[in-house]
Amino acid sequence: MREIKHWLDGAAVSGGGGRRLPVWDPATGEQQAYVVAATADETARAVASAARAFPEWRAASLSRRSEVMFRFRELVDANRKEIASLVSQEHGKTVADAGGELARGLENIEFAAGAPHLLKGGYSEQASSGVDVYSIRQPLGVVAGITPFNFPAMVPMWMFCNALVCGNTFVLKPSEKDPSVSLMLADLLRQAGLPDGAFNVVQGDREAVETLIAHPDVQALSFVGSTPVAKSIYEQGTRAGKRVQALGGAKNHMVVLPDADVDSAADAAVSAGYGSAGERCMAVSVVVAVGAVGDPLVAAIRDRIGRIAVGPASDPSAEMGPLISREHRDKVAGYLAAAGTADVVVDGREAPISDGPGFFLGASLVDKVPTDSPLYTDEIFGPVLSVVRTDTYEEALELVNDNEFGNGTAIFTRDGGAARRFQYDVNCGMVGVNVPVPVPVAYYSFGGWKSSLFGDLHMYGPEGIQFYTRSKVVTSRWPDPATSEVDLGFPKVR
Ligand code: NAD
Repeated sequence: MREIKHWLDGAAVSGGGGRRLPVWDPATGEQQAYVVAATADETARAVASAARAFPEWRAASLSRRSEVMFRFRELVDANRKEIASLVSQEHGKTVADAGGELARGLENIEFAAGAPHLLKGGYSEQASSGVDVYSIRQPLGVVAGITPFNFPAMVPMWMFCNALVCGNTFVLKPSEKDPSVSLMLADLLRQAGLPDGAFNVVQGDREAVETLIAHPDVQALSFVGSTPVAKSIYEQGTRAGKRVQALGGAKNHMVVLPDADVDSAADAAVSAGYGSAGERCMAVSVVVAVGAVGDPLVAAIRDRIGRIAVGPASDPSAEMGPLISREHRDKVAGYLAAAGTADVVVDGREAPISDGPGFFLGASLVDKVPTDSPLYTDEIFGPVLSVVRTDTYEEALELVNDNEFGNGTAIFTRDGGAARRFQYDVNCGMVGVNVPVPVPVAYYSFGGWKSSLFGDLHMYGPEGIQFYTRSKVVTSRWPDPATSEVDLGFPKVR
C-alpha cells in the first residue's frame, strides 16, 4: 500500500514511526493509502529545518518573497485539475467543488503576492527636535499550521501564503484524512523558488500537534478544526507563550423573513446546506423560517432535494459526494434516528446509495426542530438541514445570538432596512445578506465569534499579515553637535 510521506528540507521523506493511519477512499469505503504518524523526533526535525531556513528567507527581499508567491500562483493555476482531482480522491467532494476550493485558495496567494504593501510601517519626522520615529513589521520565525480535512488545499493556503511572504518559515500538520495535496503544494512552492526548509509538512495527528505546541522554536500556531480541539490548542499554546489563532466549529443559521423570494431562498438553502455534503464550516445547518414563509419554503427545499445527484467524484454528473469516514457517516445518520418529535421530511438514510460500501448519506431535511434537540444544538457537519419556525424576526435573531457558535449567518429578505438591522444586531463574525455562504474575499479576513474562534486575530487578509508579524518602533536621532547635551530627565517630545 502507498505511503503518503512527510516533506522535510525540500523533499518527501518516509515516516519512521510505528503508527500507520489509514487514508480511505470515501466513495468506495476502501483504504487507498496510509500516513505514518510523525513522532515527536520527526516533528522536531521539521521545526529544526524551518529554524535553519529562517535567517535566509527572512533576509530575502520583499520583492523576491512576493515573486515566489507570483510563481506559486502560476504553478497552482497550471495544476488546478490535478490538485482538484487529488482533493476529490481523498476527501470525496466533487471535482467541481474541489475546483471552487482551489479558486478561493488562489485568491489567498494573490493577496500574499501584494503583501509588501501591507508590510509598510509608519514614519513620523521630527517627533522631537531632531528625532524621527518609525515602525517596522518583522516576521515571527517558525510558525505552524494545523488544518482540518474539509478544505485540504484552501485552509493551508489561508495560513502559509501570508506567513511565508512575511518572512516566516512554516511547518504544516495537515489532516491525516486527506494528506496528499499538502505534498503537492510543498513541491509547487519548491518549484516556485522557496528555499528548502522554509516549508515542511509533518503527517500525523495529536502527537505531532503536541510537539509543535510544546516546541520552544515555534512562535505561533494557526489552527482550523473542531471547537474542542481549537479551544484546547489555544489554551495550551498561549500557556506556552505562543501567539495562537484557533478557528473552531459552527452552526450557521439562515434566517428567512416572510417577504423573501421563496425560490431564491430555497436554492440558497439547498446549495449551502448540502454542498460538499454539509462538511463546510460555513454550511447552512439551520434554516430559521419566520412566519408564513415556513410551509412554502419547506416544500420548495424538499422538491429540490429530490433532484440532487449523489455519487462519487468520478461520476461527472454527481453534485454531492460521500462523507469523510464511515464513523462520521454513521454519527450523522444517528441524528436522524434520534429526531424525536421533529418532522423528518426527507430521510437521507432511505436513499439507495446510503446502503453501499462508500460513506454516502442522502440529503436530509428535518422540519419543526425543537431548540433542545441535538439536531439543533450540535454541529452535525453532514447533509442534514434543520428548519426551526419562529413567529417574529426578534425570536429568530435571539436564536442566532444565543447560539454557542458565531461563525457565519445569513438573512434572506427583500427589505433593506431589515437586513441592515440584522447586520447591526447579530453576534456572528461573517454575515450574508441574500448570500448563504458569506466567506469573505481574501482582502478581508475570515473568522467567527464566540466558540467559533479563539484568539484575537482572524485568519488571512490584513489580519493574517498582522498575525504573522510583530511591530517594532524605532526612535532615531542622528548626531548634531549643536543640540547635544546631557539630560537626566525622562525623554520629552518637545
Ligand atoms: P478536527 O478538530 O478533528 O481536526 C483538525 C486538525 O486537528 C487535524 O489536523 C487533526 O489531526 C488535529 N487534531 C484532532 N484532534 C486533535 C487533538 N486532540 N489534539 C491535537 N490535534 C488534533 O477537525 P476535522 O474533523 O478535521 O474538521 C472539521 C471541523 O473543522 C468542523 O468542526 C468544522 O466546523 C471545523 N472547521 C472550521 C473552519 C473555520 O474556519 N472555523 C473551517 C473548516 C473546518
